[in-house]
Amino acid sequence: MAHPVRALPDAGGAPGGSSGGVPAAAGRALRGFWALILPTSCVGCGRQDTSLCRPCRRAFRRATVRPFRAEAGAGSLPLRDPAALETRTGAPPGAGDAGGGFEPLPVVAAGIYGGVVARALLAFKNAGHTDLARPLAAALGGALLAARAGLPAGPCLLVPVPTRGRSLRRRGYDPLGLLLDGLRRRGELPAGSRLARPVGHRHPGMRAGGRSAGIPWFAAARRGGQKGLGRRGRQENVAGSMRVRRRYRGRLQGVQCLVVDDVLTTGATLAEAVRALRAEGAAVAGAVVLAATPPPSGTELAYSEFRRNRRGEG
Ligand SMILES: [Zn+2]
Repeated sequence: MAHPVRALPDAGGAPGGSSGGVPAAAGRALRGFWALILPTSCVGCGRQDTSLCRPCRRAFRRATVRPFRAEAGAGSLPLRDPAALETRTGAPPGAGDAGGGFEPLPVVAAGIYGGVVARALLAFKNAGHTDLARPLAAALGGALLAARAGLPAGPCLLVPVPTRGRSLRRRGYDPLGLLLDGLRRRGELPAGSRLARPVGHRHPGMRAGGRSAGIPWFAAARRGGQKGLGRRGRQENVAGSMRVRRRYRGRLQGVQCLVVDDVLTTGATLAEAVRALRAEGAAVAGAVVLAATPPPSGTELAYSEFRRNRRGEG
């Protein structure tokens, strides 16, 4: 029942992001523009003339240097792949396993989404602070290494959750792609892993009032990304929104994958990427995020587990 380990398909697209839409040169120009007009002040403390001052850089590093298992409290995550579990433990799915085979997909996070970690990530994603890419990439790289270390030997495909065309056009760059491409260029991806972008949006160019307006998730997606939506809303917003790109179809059977995203909230976005990959027979072993939001208040049990995982995985 174990998946055979297969050779990995070629990494997709041009360096700098195959998410499509904005030519690399235009992205660079826009980034340069942001660097010119933005007043530089530390995203952590407001100190002038630096995006992340030395003390805040140290605080950021302290908050992201010990990757931890973050799936507790993310109620929309898919289940762990039973075949991947079998490979890992050498036992049939569920045998001798406290979760009875019904465990959520393992997710490794570099840090908790809050404080200087959240501020750096937001400034990087939404305010053009691409000069924060290095510390953010270092955090993500550490989480990738930790996640990779927990997987069986053999090749592993790192699959970023796709950026929406709208977000790409608005920002002029793909934040997650920028971090991952940087790690790849510097040779800082885990050994035996490769970066590829087999998953895309089903309607990458959707616009408000477009011909897809009758599709329920589209109506929700028009209002923006996942921000501000509850667990149910997030699930409905993304369900069925992604698919494996045509050139990767028939080439992912049995390929071990780790899905990568920036922030874990309910897990609905990761779940949709995992669904698309598994529909093509990929063996999705887990996910990696830069930061995970703590579970919402009222789920004390889940939160104590969250804290325990954080300590345990250190
Ligand atoms: Zn500072």
